[in-house]
Amino acid sequence: MQDKLIREKLIGWYRINQRDLPWRRTFNPYAIWISEAMLQQTQVATVIPYFHRFLRQFPDIHTLAGADLESVLKAWEGMGYYARARNLHRAAIEIVEQYQGKIPSSFMQLKKLPGVGDYIAAAVASIAFQRPFPVVDGNVKRVLSRLFLIDTPVNDASAHKVFYQQALRFIDIHSKDHQGIFNQAIMELGALICRPRNADCLNCPVDSFCQAYQQNLIHHFPMRHKKRKPPEYQVSAAVLRKNGKILITRRKPEGHLGGLWEFPGGKVRKNETPEQACVREIKEEVNLDISVDSFLTTIKHAYTHFKIKMDIFNCTYVSGDLKLNGPVDYRWVSADELELFPFPGADRKFMHLITFS
Ligand code: SF4
Repeated sequence: MQDKLIREKLIGWYRINQRDLPWRRTFNPYAIWISEAMLQQTQVATVIPYFHRFLRQFPDIHTLAGADLESVLKAWEGMGYYARARNLHRAAIEIVEQYQGKIPSSFMQLKKLPGVGDYIAAAVASIAFQRPFPVVDGNVKRVLSRLFLIDTPVNDASAHKVFYQQALRFIDIHSKDHQGIFNQAIMELGALICRPRNADCLNCPVDSFCQAYQQNLIHHFPMRHKKRKPPEYQVSAAVLRKNGKILITRRKPEGHLGGLWEFPGGKVRKNETPEQACVREIKEEVNLDISVDSFLTTIKHAYTHFKIKMDIFNCTYVSGDLKLNGPVDYRWVSADELELFPFPGADRKFMHLITFS
């Protein structure tokens, strides 16, 4: 009975208080899938303009499947976590080849697509196809942990299973409501009311059911294992000039920042200066001898599991025939051309300082 009441209260609250977001104005599975992939690691406000641009450029699954990966990465540029873009592209190709371009409505078929885990499969299945699957994201875990004093740390390996079991309580296959609406309601409550800090319990529609609120324990939930401090690596990169053009190289398609273009360089080793690392890395990666002319700048950038501090140097080509060892492609580019390539966020932090002469 209590679960039914919580469900009703949340859905009622959501109908009145939901934000007007572009992906909520449609049941188009393609648009919903794109939005969920974008929202995985990125804030709503950042996603909105990307979502509009992406759908303008790739309005349907066939356009996305037929596009080259580089244009997809370019459309994603600046949002980070590029594996999401690569997976969307691969999944679009699979959908066209295996499902005649129709996004599958089955949770299990969705989950087999590249980049689609439990969360996206449940979100697309429930929101676009009215299938009764609970979604479990960070917002949902926070709300559930507070409602029921669940002490499983949200970043524990077992957390998804534990919270999924709890979320199942609210799935009502006989409900006349749209099956995705409860999922959207609980996520929205986490985003707007049951926030990580400063939860707005006074305006919460389920405060009377919330054990953390009733027992004044909100600040203890959700529990999480302490994160280890991410390591920081010292990196060097070269803005390497030859005949008025600058060398950029492309990373291999898989793995960290796969498929993106960058200014060549790499990690500084022990007992090596950043300048020496720059010369060595260029020799190793593209077989060129260079001179380091001047220091351009230092930037810092944080990824999920590590940070980098990158020194960037203005360099000049001295000798050698370019041979790739690591990167999969290269270009000597002019100032105008530089903008056409997708770059990681770290490289974009200093690109405006580069001069062409
Ligand atoms: S009462 Fe407060 S802590 Fe409990 S669910 Fe509502 S907002 Fe979250």
